[in-house]
Amino acid sequence: MTIAKTAALAALRSAVGADQVLAEGDLAAYEQDWRRRWRGKALAVVRPGSTAEVAAVLRVCAAQGLSLVPQGGNTGLVGGGVPDGSGTQVLLSLQRLNRVRRIDAANLAMTVEAGCVLQAAQEAAAAQGLLLPLSLAAEGSCTIGGNLATNAGGTQVLRYGNARALCLGLEVVTAAGEVWDGLSGLRKDNTGYDLRDLFIGSEGTLGVITAATMVLVPQPAAITTALAALASVRDAVALLELARARLGAGLTGFELMNRFSLDLVARHFPQLPAPLPGAAWTVLLEQSDNEGEAQARARFESLLGEALERGLIGDAAVAESLAQSQGLWQVRESIPLAQAEEGLNIKHDIALPVSAIPEFVEQTDAALQARIDGVRLVDFGHLGDGNLHYNVQAPAGGDARRFLAEREHEVNTIVYDAVQRFGGSISAEHGVGELKREEIVERKSAVAIALMRQIKRALDPDNRLNPNRVLTR
Ligand code: FAD
Ligand code: ZN
Repeated sequence: MTIAKTAALAALRSAVGADQVLAEGDLAAYEQDWRRRWRGKALAVVRPGSTAEVAAVLRVCAAQGLSLVPQGGNTGLVGGGVPDGSGTQVLLSLQRLNRVRRIDAANLAMTVEAGCVLQAAQEAAAAQGLLLPLSLAAEGSCTIGGNLATNAGGTQVLRYGNARALCLGLEVVTAAGEVWDGLSGLRKDNTGYDLRDLFIGSEGTLGVITAATMVLVPQPAAITTALAALASVRDAVALLELARARLGAGLTGFELMNRFSLDLVARHFPQLPAPLPGAAWTVLLEQSDNEGEAQARARFESLLGEALERGLIGDAAVAESLAQSQGLWQVRESIPLAQAEEGLNIKHDIALPVSAIPEFVEQTDAALQARIDGVRLVDFGHLGDGNLHYNVQAPAGGDARRFLAEREHEVNTIVYDAVQRFGGSISAEHGVGELKREEIVERKSAVAIALMRQIKRALDPDNRLNPNRVLTR
């Protein structure tokens, strides 16, 4: 071990205690990303237990000339939360900062530490009869800090907005190791630049989030789900319009799934329900309201009856119990897992105006099929938000790793050119991380990129915080 490394480890140990600095053994859980696409090597994994300890770690990094990568649940999908391969970066795990500090029912807000797992925060709110309306398939592992650092979306954005919209305040440790206490529960505060919004979505490149105050809403009396089978994406957009008109703010989720994505779930998770088999496209609708379950189901039945009459849908089913609803959501949320079982794939997380989605899918499906014989398209996503996970899987029986290595650039060019043509974004909710840092330079305005670089230099002048992620130097 070099003298510099020995000194760095000693300083880190004095900041958080020797037990919480892991420098040996199998650190794969921290060094390998969820998709198994990126594997780095950390100088050490450091696990502070308080905001003061996070600040101490940042000061050690500044003094020792070390860079660091913050990490929450390590469920990010763009390679932003694992160290690079140099063996010189500190992997700063926030997992031990996991307390719920306060629930203020009258102010409809909760303050939680960054490492609190999303599901644990949801449960703490539910215990007070309140709902933390952020929900995603990774909620059993992802953390509030990671959700805010990536400005996560999920399945209820349609009604409640993304993580940014649900955040009232932050506590952040700066690159210099200072603590900014911005944990306000205020819904209005126009006292200058919005620092909170600067840190949200910054993917660990501007500061380390240590706690957040999140919006709560009263727990709805009933949450019900329904499924509809459709022939085309065009019909799905028409159904969305109708559902908005008939259900108003009661519509909380509107998820689209193509047949191949459901076939993958059936293949890899045969124990799950196989609803409306054979549909070219399936939509999962969710409704939350303050009346009873019977009323909600009746509203669904009336909406779906009308859609059937108009020829928008072929078949439909309304869940009759909570267990059935959960089964339907489990099918939807198993798509990313089923895809991972099937092999590495080329992921896209795109946003488009909802009105442009049918034409985008028609044109882009056709372009990819013409270029790659037997290509398999896993199209699904949050149609209600104009957000598709338009993923591309190797032809059946092909070598998935090789397909990714050889075809990713070509596939991305086809997909992202189309996204740009239709006025969309190449990252709707997963962020930029390592995966899209070169691509955003090509596809965002030069003025925007220059302003982002200036902000990075102002907040992290020595480039210590997750360097080379989001922005290349
Ligand atoms: P990590 O993966 O640990 O980190 C993600 C990024 O945030 C990294 O750049 C990291 O450096 C940074 N970071 C983490 N914690 C902090 C902190 N405290 N301070 C500063 N920076 C920090 N995303 C969606 O938006 N919608 C979905 O529907 C969705 N579904 C998913 C389903 C599955 C099965 C999986 C595996 C992922 C899904 N994701 C989804 C990806 C999503 O980004 C994450 O699940 C989540 O928001 C990341 O939280 P995390 O704690 O795991 O963060
Ligand atoms: Zn998603």
